[in-house]
Amino acid sequence: MKIIVNGKEAGTKEKGCALCGATWGEYYDVIDGENLFFCCDYCALEFKNMVNEVKNRTRWSKIYELVINGNYYTGRTCIAKSEDKEYKFYVKFNDEAGIETFKELT
Ligand SMILES: [Zn+2]
Repeated sequence: MKIIVNGKEAGTKEKGCALCGATWGEYYDVIDGENLFFCCDYCALEFKNMVNEVKNRTRWSKIYELVINGNYYTGRTCIAKSEDKEYKFYVKFNDEAGIETFKELT
């Protein structure tokens, strides 16, 4: 999965946390068969919840690319891409890494 966080590629230790782009921390989690880097388990859990929500709503089996813009406080405006489709959404997490707000955007 290609991940762009606030304009920069992310998801490895060198490039930054797959959700927030931070380069500190040392946490890895396997998502969709890929070992992704996160700054902390909290970001990993948020990312997983977000990916599951997108898959549930789109019925896609795999997300090829995820473009994430925003942060914890403003919420995040995102574009998920499969092979030939795009899905735009807004997501905001609560303080337990759960989804507080999820809106499909057109
Ligand atoms: Zn993070």
